[in-house]
Amino acid sequence: MQFDVVIVGGGPAGLQAALTLGRARKRVLLCDAGPRRNAAAVHMHNFLTRDGTAPAELRAIARQQLATYSNVEFGSSAITSITGARGAFQVHTPEGVIGARRILLCTGMVDEPPPIEGLRELWGTSVVQCPYCHGWEVQDRRWGYLALPGAAAHLVPFTTMLRGWSRDVTLFTGAAVDLPAEGRATLAAAGVKLETAAITRVLAQDGRLAAVELAGGRRVACDVLFSHPPQRQVDVVRALGLALDPEGFVRVEPLRPETSVPGIYAAGDLTTRGQAAILAAAAGMLAAAALNTELTMQLAAEGHI
Ligand SMILES: Cc1cc2nc3c(=O)[nH]c(=O)nc-3n(C[C@H](O)[C@H](O)[C@H](O)COP(=O)(O)OP(=O)(O)OC[C@H]3O[C@@H](n4cnc5c(N)ncnc54)[C@H](O)[C@@H]3O)c2cc1C
Repeated sequence: MQFDVVIVGGGPAGLQAALTLGRARKRVLLCDAGPRRNAAAVHMHNFLTRDGTAPAELRAIARQQLATYSNVEFGSSAITSITGARGAFQVHTPEGVIGARRILLCTGMVDEPPPIEGLRELWGTSVVQCPYCHGWEVQDRRWGYLALPGAAAHLVPFTTMLRGWSRDVTLFTGAAVDLPAEGRATLAAAGVKLETAAITRVLAQDGRLAAVELAGGRRVACDVLFSHPPQRQVDVVRALGLALDPEGFVRVEPLRPETSVPGIYAAGDLTTRGQAAILAAAAGMLAAAALNTELTMQLAAEGHI
């Protein structure tokens, strides 16, 4: 099988890229093996015309609309590796090898919540990352922000911003982050409470967060906990040895998202901390358009079209 473009990952970035490339008459294979990054989320918010839609429904609508483009095909195999070079890539799956002129990586990121007892089970429901995605539904409840080592720079502005959604905000530093006096003063002035003791576990009731337990046994009642745990690239991306930025995101130029390997492009969460479904979809279109220009020039010059 030979395709113009194989897109790896069928989240918002990959689906939008498939639409753009499909409409540009390229032969496209979109491979998605799941699970999606927001698998635990029941509803997706802050996406124009789709506020409150289930993430699976967004994907289903996109696939339904893509089905009208006969030059776009779907694969459900996990891509295990990518070899070859610009113009002649081999995409390896458990079912066989697929040829591709270009690759577009839209594989998202893998979240790695810290090993605090009880936390992983609540990830994506009442332990979440983004107040723009989840804040409205839990406004004025008891909010916490869990600071993780290395997060000091954005801690004060981010936690203070949470006050826009709730009067009851606590910053838990878990004894892992040392806040300077100036930061503490800013938080105090904004009415943000500070807990600096180590966290022993989080407690749930009826499947939702109920409290954060601190060293010594004291419990702080909490309905929702925000945090930004470390993220890593999926294995197939790691194996490509692409240039990454200091935070581990694939390094690309915004308007020409080709990676450090010629012919391999990337779009969506795997390239940025600015992570939201609509941003990933927009990045998917940009990458598809840049890739399409460059690929069409080559195809035309070589007399293929
Ligand atoms: C819990 C949670 C809730 C969220 N809620 C919201 C919200 O309400 N609103 C919002 O705008 N954003 C939300 N987000 C962020 C949003 O989900 C992401 O920004 C968005 O999904 C990123 O899209 P993407 O296409 O880059 O990657 P993803 O959506 O992560 O899609 C990547 C896809 O690639 C597939 N894949 C990976 N490796 C391979 C491989 N080797 N072979 C084949 N397929 C592969 C994965 O299975 C996955 O389906 C949430 C995130 C989380 C974690």
